[in-house]
Amino acid sequence: MRRYSLPCSETRLREIISAYGTPFHLYDERGMRENVRQLQAAFSWHPDFKEYFAVKANANPHLLEILAAEGCGADCSSLPELLLADAVGLRGEEILFSSNNTPLMEYEAAVAAGAIVNVDDVSHLEKLQAAGLRPERICFRYNPGKSGIGNAFIGDPREAKYGMTRPQLTAAIRWAQAQGIEYIGLHTMVVSNELATEALTATAEMMFRLAAELHEETGLRPSLLDLGGGIGVAYRPTETPLDYAAYGVAVRRLYEEILRPAGLGDCRLALECGRVITGSYGWLVMRAIHHKHTYKNYIGADTCMADLMRPGMYGAYHYMTVLGKETAPKTQVYDIVGSLCENNDKFAVDRELPEIEDGDILIVHDTGAHGYAMGFHYNGKLRSRELLLQEDGTVREIRRAETIEDYFATLTYPGLKRSM
Ligand SMILES: *Cc1c(COP(=O)(O)O)cnc(C)c1O
Repeated sequence: MRRYSLPCSETRLREIISAYGTPFHLYDERGMRENVRQLQAAFSWHPDFKEYFAVKANANPHLLEILAAEGCGADCSSLPELLLADAVGLRGEEILFSSNNTPLMEYEAAVAAGAIVNVDDVSHLEKLQAAGLRPERICFRYNPGKSGIGNAFIGDPREAKYGMTRPQLTAAIRWAQAQGIEYIGLHTMVVSNELATEALTATAEMMFRLAAELHEETGLRPSLLDLGGGIGVAYRPTETPLDYAAYGVAVRRLYEEILRPAGLGDCRLALECGRVITGSYGWLVMRAIHHKHTYKNYIGADTCMADLMRPGMYGAYHYMTVLGKETAPKTQVYDIVGSLCENNDKFAVDRELPEIEDGDILIVHDTGAHGYAMGFHYNGKLRSRELLLQEDGTVREIRRAETIEDYFATLTYPGLKRSM
């Protein structure tokens, strides 16, 4: 069972609301730090474990800086993400560039940064060579195809656009060896939003066996074994967060059984989790501004899916509470909606909640990953500010709210007014 909480007292949250107004994203520094420490502790048995935070989950450099201070690297997949990693002081081996269908210009930037360049397809190697790009550190993304590995969220690996087949992987390794590249890593990512230890350890087992097999076949001693991201968030009350310690123990067993006997025990073991690192340490705080009763009961919030796409995009569930009414009986059934002209602009559908009055504070939980990050400007909607609740209890605005100026910034049309 999942337990939900706020990062501060109701009184403190009301103070923050008075100071900034609604809506906003709120992040909890302490929770985020403790969470990542627990994940690292689960792998402390390994001589060289590193979590590379997948920047796409939450691209605010203030958060990236906190994670970097905790020893995380960054998993980037675009030039702006590389620039964010650079801005917080991450360098070389601390940056993993894990992209697909990659523009050459981004490879150039990743090579210039000295990042570990995770190549998604064997055809990219010729292009790197033709462009005179020789990564100091390279990694190859494996797609196991019909292996039975892969979860409902990511689907059948054969349908996934990512990674290389097994024969392509051998060819890629031989290419890198011929180039004299000493740092060669192996990567895969076959699950997403996964809460089952067995599914996650299946990835580890596959990669450990793969490394042992490739060692036999090509003599490769991988510098990096990257198991990808994909640890889930227990969004629903019926779900249970992953037990990191149990996961670490299960991976250790496989390591002792497969990797160590193969003589590959000292290579860096990496995860590149995004969602589970920040997901549960973010809340979207908004206010109820309308009631509407037609064929259903609607509550209108003062923001929209520009701040949280997941429910509209995937039908994803986010737990919601009404501030000060956490323990009140859930006597009503509401759709909690935004103001965008799309009927999927709903934070919750048919949700049992206490009676809501205009002015009540509505809180969407677990919005720290793929919340602000996925937002868009469709329909002229602007994204809210991001606030960080720091360890000392003070609040820092780590991104201001978007303005009409921002929305019009790329337009070439003269004379657009900024207000009516
Ligand atoms: C999205 C992504 C991740 C992070 O996945 P989470 O589900 O957020 O842990 C890691 N690596 C790659 C290549 C990705 O595309």
